Amino acid sequence: PYDLLVIGGGPAGAAAAIYAARKGIRTGLVAERFGGQVMDTVGIENFISVPYTEGPKLAASLEQHVKEYGVDIITDQRATNLQRNELVDIELKSGATLSSRSVVLATGARWRELGVPGEAEYRTKGVAYCPHCDGPFFKGKHVAVIGGGNSGIEAAIDLAGIVEHVTVLEFADSLRADEVLVRKTQQMDNIDIILNAQTTEVLGDGNKVNGLAYTDRKSGESRKLDLAGVFVQIGLVPNTEFLKESDVVMNRMGEIQIDERGATSIPGVYAAGDATTAPYKQIVISMGAGATAALGAFDYLIRSSVE
Ligand code: FAD
Repeated sequence: PYDLLVIGGGPAGAAAAIYAARKGIRTGLVAERFGGQVMDTVGIENFISVPYTEGPKLAASLEQHVKEYGVDIITDQRATNLQRNELVDIELKSGATLSSRSVVLATGARWRELGVPGEAEYRTKGVAYCPHCDGPFFKGKHVAVIGGGNSGIEAAIDLAGIVEHVTVLEFADSLRADEVLVRKTQQMDNIDIILNAQTTEVLGDGNKVNGLAYTDRKSGESRKLDLAGVFVQIGLVPNTEFLKESDVVMNRMGEIQIDERGATSIPGVYAAGDATTAPYKQIVISMGAGATAALGAFDYLIRSSVE
């Protein structure tokens, strides 16, 4: 068995594996795809001390750094269940089971997509999901935010300080965001809000986004907006479906509940990054959380009985 097995090969998982291996304990890492969401990112300008890098480049450095420590890396494998027996057993889709004295869950998350024509085609060419990451690329331009919940309205307020104009499109007949955030948008003169708007297509010129089409759900009319960017803010879905049969406690959004050491509700099982209740989802934050979870797990191991 492993001393520590990391599930996930994004920033959180890579950091956890390096911190664990540096303690001299037997460390494994299982991931469907090394690099995680970083692989889907083009420009990264907020990875502190690195003014600019690109996703695939950062992912390659992450992998190289992990490999320097003799971590047993297993990629193209999906975890399908976790069971706390004498050890922690991780079942894989291949049918194999990996056992470890401790585990760090770092399976990340994915943005909920609109699922309309043009969205996939113009991803990273005007269709964006992360205002902290991509907002500055739209300086002085007109963008839309799809979704009028807290994340959509926070994104609109954030973007309004950078871009020329923000149009929020909400599917329902009212905003679901907190009142204090809604009031803030009313005080900003470069945000307008369209309710009852069902986005039907992201429009582009073949290279980049130039607008979107939506249906006014009240009148049934189709309308168009001219835009340089579309921020989709309809939710972040944690990759924790595989824990449904386990006893790991999650919140109603499916995020794994952790404490300040990264500990979950199951002894020896730790978690880090976008898959958890951590309020902010970023590369630098996930890396710190991965390091924390590995150190938490190491503390657990030195306190539990040796076989
Ligand atoms: P992830 O990166 O999601 O990695 C999860 C890992 O778990 C992957 O290896 C995945 O294959 C694996 N996995 C998932 N399920 C399973 C399973 N069942 N079994 C085995 N393996 C599994 N953040 C920034 O700080 N700056 C930016 O500029 C930035 N831009 C972004 C742009 C885009 C388009 C996106 C999508 C995100 C961006 N982010 C950015 C956010 C950042 O990428 C995430 O916060 C960060 O990657 C989270 O790291 P993580 O390790 O928790 O999860």
